[in-house]
Amino acid sequence: MLVLVVNCGSSSIKYKLMDMVQESVLLSGLSERIGIAGSRIKQENNKGEELVLEQDLPNHKVALETILNCITDPKYGAIKDTAEIKAVGHRVVHGGEKFNKSVVIDAELMKVLEEMSELAPLHNPPNIVGIKTCQELMPNVAHVAVFDTAFHSAMSKQAYTYAIPYEYYEKYKIRRYGFHGTSHKFVSHRAAEILGKPVKELKIVVCHLGNGSSISAVGNGVSQDTSMGFTPLPGLPMGTRTGDMDPAIVPFLMEKEKLSIEEIGNVMNKKSGVLGVSGISSDFRDLEDAANKGNERAELALDMFAYGIIKYIGAYTAALGGLDAVVFTGGIGENSMTMRAKILKGLAYTGLQIDEEKNNSRGKEVIISKPGAPFVAMVVPTNEELMIARETKELVQ
Ligand code: ADP
Repeated sequence: MLVLVVNCGSSSIKYKLMDMVQESVLLSGLSERIGIAGSRIKQENNKGEELVLEQDLPNHKVALETILNCITDPKYGAIKDTAEIKAVGHRVVHGGEKFNKSVVIDAELMKVLEEMSELAPLHNPPNIVGIKTCQELMPNVAHVAVFDTAFHSAMSKQAYTYAIPYEYYEKYKIRRYGFHGTSHKFVSHRAAEILGKPVKELKIVVCHLGNGSSISAVGNGVSQDTSMGFTPLPGLPMGTRTGDMDPAIVPFLMEKEKLSIEEIGNVMNKKSGVLGVSGISSDFRDLEDAANKGNERAELALDMFAYGIIKYIGAYTAALGGLDAVVFTGGIGENSMTMRAKILKGLAYTGLQIDEEKNNSRGKEVIISKPGAPFVAMVVPTNEELMIARETKELVQ
């Protein structure tokens, strides 16, 4: 059974064609700079053949049509005809309160998704365009929406309610939703498999550390709490996003710097985080290089990131009433041995000791704590596309 996974952003589309009998990837690709000069598609099939197509892609419809041609390309593609695709799984960032699991898309659902765009104005509109275009191009195929928020939908009221007048929750649905749910689910469930225990019996803190970073407290197999909130802005300091800060800073800065709503949003989303603190880069590799050369602000940014994670792990251990595993994933979690070591050294008070040799690895499933530790520290590479394809397959079958 072939499932196409589509992740449609404002100017990019990531896609993966998966054979869900073997759970293998037939082909994956990325279309970038849609609607901007210099648009292109890069694709690699399972024979390692790479296709780079530099071509004008003025909108998502043209991009998706071209992607379908690339998928069926006689030399670089993986299938002869798109009719071989049985279902399309779409990543949708915000499912609001309505969607606590993946759903088969119908006309009514599209209406609800459009109403919900207000909650995720940057993300949901391109997701919707992607769904509509794929439906037009593949009308006889089931389309499934998999929500980033769904895994967090089991959070208790005390975990998701903000201490603002309750009427704002009722009127505008302002509450914690959390994001990266597909990754938190995949990684926590895979960690349980590796540990050989039912996920429902484990207390797991998942650290998804990438350009955007979030932490979740997984208990009873679902997310009990998570660091992102109403939007993907709070929690840890990120590549360019502030993470948690005193909300009073917002009106203070707006007044002092004469910033509009759009400008302050830009500062908090694009100019802050480790980029803002270091003044160097949002990329952790650049920061690690700079810190190694003695750059103090790069070091401060890295220390703040690790300190934030250490605090969340402590808080979520208390929230879960114990801890069986801390799991690292995402670009930084999977690849940065120095960041993992920095975080785990901050947890030495628990008796946890890091196995330096095992920690010396990138992008692999590995337990990096020494035996006898009070909980296990491990790396589990995330695979959001596989999770989306699995949920799509399940619903279609
Ligand atoms: P996104 O949130 O966009 O999916 P990723 O999960 O791909 O991001 O993570 C990107 C981050 O991972 C970047 O900050 C990058 O610096 C970091 N990263 C990737 N490889 C390494 C590495 N070897 N060492 C440190 N950081 C790394």
